[in-house]
Amino acid sequence: MTVYIALGSNVGDRAAHLQAALAALPAPGVKVRAVSRFDRTAPVGATGHGWYLNAVARAETDLLPQVLLGRLRRIEHALGRRPAPGRKKTPRRVDLDLILYGRARIQTPQLTVPHPRFAARRFVLDGLAELAPTLHAPGSPLTMAQLQARALRR
Ligand code: ADP
Ligand code: MG
Repeated sequence: MTVYIALGSNVGDRAAHLQAALAALPAPGVKVRAVSRFDRTAPVGATGHGWYLNAVARAETDLLPQVLLGRLRRIEHALGRRPAPGRKKTPRRVDLDLILYGRARIQTPQLTVPHPRFAARRFVLDGLAELAPTLHAPGSPLTMAQLQARALRR
């Protein structure tokens, strides 16, 4: 299964955190095939947090979506994410989101795929348009390049 994973870091040596997360992904069952540029972006929906460094990775996996999400969570924690109780948006060394899992559409309390906000996030669209300009997300009439162009016009 081809999957797209968004990576972000907004504390410390952000590039090193993204590299460490990418290095941790290829445990059994996950092969990283391509990584977008690392892009510097302003924090979304939060004030007082540092700028983000973001990237998108394409990988091949035979893990089930929930298992892959568990892997992403473990990498976040291993790299020292510090969740603050009662606050959703916390500074973090690395945030890993599962954006696309093949053409699957998943809606569970733990996991929504395609990621519900990917098309609203420039840094995700930039990475997707770089790696897969002609790809359509399931249910989307527009390609990643078209979604990116639409976001640029806003
Ligand atoms: P965000 O990534 O939106 O800044 P968090 O990383 O704090 O927020 O949110 C993590 C929660 O989102 C997890 O509890 C996870 O179960 C849930 N979630 C739902 N869909 C996804 C997805 N596609 N990728 C990653 N996490 C997801
Ligand atoms: Mg997340």
